Amino acid sequence: MRFAVRGVWAIFALYLTISAAFAQENPSFVAWREAFRVEALAAGISAATFDSAFDGVNVSERVLQADASQPEFTRTIWSYLDGAVSARRIRLGQQKLAENADMLDAVEEQYGVDRHIVVAIWGMESDFGQVRGDISIIQALATLAYDGRRAAWGREQLIAALRILEEGNMTSEQMRGSWAGAMGHTQFIPTSYLQYAVDFDGDNRRDLIGSHTDALASAANYLARNGWSNGQSWGQEVVLPSDFAYALSGRHNVQSLSQWSSLGVHLAGGSPLPATDEMASIIAPAGSQGPAFLIHNNFSVIMRYNNSTSYAMAIGHLADRLRGGPAFVGAWPRDARPLNLSQRREVQNLLSIHGYSPGPADGIMGARTRAAVRSFQRRAGVTEDGYVSIALLEQLRNH
Ligand code: CA
Repeated sequence: MRFAVRGVWAIFALYLTISAAFAQENPSFVAWREAFRVEALAAGISAATFDSAFDGVNVSERVLQADASQPEFTRTIWSYLDGAVSARRIRLGQQKLAENADMLDAVEEQYGVDRHIVVAIWGMESDFGQVRGDISIIQALATLAYDGRRAAWGREQLIAALRILEEGNMTSEQMRGSWAGAMGHTQFIPTSYLQYAVDFDGDNRRDLIGSHTDALASAANYLARNGWSNGQSWGQEVVLPSDFAYALSGRHNVQSLSQWSSLGVHLAGGSPLPATDEMASIIAPAGSQGPAFLIHNNFSVIMRYNNSTSYAMAIGHLADRLRGGPAFVGAWPRDARPLNLSQRREVQNLLSIHGYSPGPADGIMGARTRAAVRSFQRRAGVTEDGYVSIALLEQLRNH
């Protein structure tokens, strides 16, 4: 009898707990979660892993806000590089190289990727492990899968994150990172984690959050499996002749070093390019008013890690500086005002009105927009560098 009374009270207490939990939960999120649970279990995730991972998970306003925000100003490349390759970061990176020398020997030996590049990625992605993100990855990805602009992407990443938990690499409490689902010292998203993360410290867990050894080896593995050429540089700063045809610049216009040399291109220090048939491109990330760089295939491999020219420049340059290399010689056009969001949209709208195809007027100056800018510049008879500036906006307005 006393047992029965206690049992009733226990059930009643449980009922109160559950109803309180459900009262705070968004009912359509609960319905979504139950449907997603079926999908996850069909994909091989165990009920125990799913239920424990989703314990207490709800829609995150912080993640929704971050996903919806659109920058008023995009950073100029010089301001981005100033932050990415600061004196403090170079000093800290050199310290990390010294502290981890034996491990980096082993990583280089195994994957054939230059340690300075690997440590540069560590610095860029998490400031050498200091900023790994504190948002629950399951909560972040569940929010994006439930209510983001990228629901399909979010579902795929969420299944991958559950698989990482299922493998026993870490607990869901330990699985924390950025609002966009990137984790650990090298900020891998879950699908990259599953595909490229390695256990390099030998504890049988692939742990990019708790083990910087695993994380650095995994970054090297990522680059190696995406075509990194051991012994090849990412690129070098060059000086272009005054009559250089900027139509030849751009990552996809590849020529041999001998051909570039015959066009009058030389290294920033004044030396000629090596007269070889190695293929390379020339980029001018701030247009004809800024410095130019010869880039090799490894530059594109870095962009497989993060699809941004500025990012690849920062990794390459930080690696060179960690090795003791010099700062860039050429001056950036630091006086130029960056375009705000409505000006960037106006560029895209005007390109469309003039018959070019810049893609949607989203304010993002991506590959399509830059290609449309080049077409416009070619027809307008101005320097065809594909660079979006206030001067370009005025040319478009007056066209
Ligand atoms: Ca490990």
